[in-house]
Amino acid sequence: MTIHLDMYEGIVGAPVIGQLRQLAKGLQGKRVVHVNSTREGGGVAEILDWMVPLMCDMGIDARWEVIQGTNEFFNVTKSIHNGLQGYPAPITTRGWQTYLDVNVANFETLRPILEEAEVVLIHDPQPAPLLKLCQNRKGKWIWRGHIDISHPYRPVWKGLKPYVAGYDASIFSMNTFAHPLPHPQFIVPPSIDPLSDKNCDLEYSELEQVRARFGLDPDRPLVVQVSRFDRFKDPLGVIAACRLVRTVTPLQLVLAGGGATDDPEGKAMLDEVMEEAAGDPDIHVLLLPPNDDRTINALQRLADIIIQKSTKEGFGLTVTEGLWKGKPVIGGDVGGIRRQVVNYHTGFLVNTPEGAAHRIRFLLHHHDLKKEIGIKAKEFIRENFLLTRQLREYLTLFHEALQ
Ligand code: UDP
Repeated sequence: MTIHLDMYEGIVGAPVIGQLRQLAKGLQGKRVVHVNSTREGGGVAEILDWMVPLMCDMGIDARWEVIQGTNEFFNVTKSIHNGLQGYPAPITTRGWQTYLDVNVANFETLRPILEEAEVVLIHDPQPAPLLKLCQNRKGKWIWRGHIDISHPYRPVWKGLKPYVAGYDASIFSMNTFAHPLPHPQFIVPPSIDPLSDKNCDLEYSELEQVRARFGLDPDRPLVVQVSRFDRFKDPLGVIAACRLVRTVTPLQLVLAGGGATDDPEGKAMLDEVMEEAAGDPDIHVLLLPPNDDRTINALQRLADIIIQKSTKEGFGLTVTEGLWKGKPVIGGDVGGIRRQVVNYHTGFLVNTPEGAAHRIRFLLHHHDLKKEIGIKAKEFIRENFLLTRQLREYLTLFHEALQ
């Protein structure tokens, strides 16, 4: 489906669309090139999927280029990624050379478009060296770091810094994710697409089908956590919390996640969760295929309460998704969850299974407040974390860059 800005008018209102069109006026025909390293899979590709067509729809000459790499290159960039997040991930001299060589090869292909672009947005570390290679650049170059690089593994940062320091600016998702660099830094949090399969409205019949498919009882409350099976998402803590609640109130729990089987750490976590849930008919551990967005959407909509009891988190898009569906979210008091969950307004922040159990019980016994929180939650996301806000911030930044 081709998306157009006007399709969002019914959700965000005509003034928001009008403001975006106004902002885009001074950017007509400007060539903005996004570069990343994958066309699909992962959050960056998901954002570029809507951002590039919507920028084009506003009259900007937006392009999306993807660099090609070898297995060796992607092994090195995975280590860079881990290292930036603070894990000791040593990279050999040969590894850094591969990193540069692959960028040199890609630069040869991309040279004309990069030299001519008015704004270049380089996403994440993989294509970062392109700036150094582009000797005849005409435009401004911005490095868009999507991960938390505030406490990197020093040797990796030492190797990467010379490539990113030369950018005209950088963008991070949260202020706590940034790292000192000798240029202006901007904070642009992520956002969700309210018309995507993950977030669009669903017919009641589709919700019913999903409910039946997983054997969920419409008469008992349901708590849902959608997450990779990862220790930091604390699925065992969620089970413990729900069991505490069940000593006084019936409750069903869905833990939905996917893609764990080819990830050794994920597999071990999934096994532990399965073992903990074994024989308990009210704990549903669902292993979903990748991109099963409508099922996730339906599960979030079937829930009475969304939980995201992470003990470490980036921004926490599952929280955004849950709030957008008008659900109170009980979230771990960490990372971007803190920016989204406000006690008594959009949900509750918790630190322990006991705390989570207390808040689940509280919400289940205060129907009116639960409803009120749900309404506020959706409006909070409409105001702050839909793609139109992210577009506005990008366009504003382009204006500044092009002054
Ligand atoms: N997600 C999914 N399938 C799964 C588990 C998660 O599509 O089995 C989605 C989820 O809906 C959200 C994203 O993956 O859009 C996870 O983003 P988040 O920021 O919550 O956590 P991360 O996995 O990036 O740590």
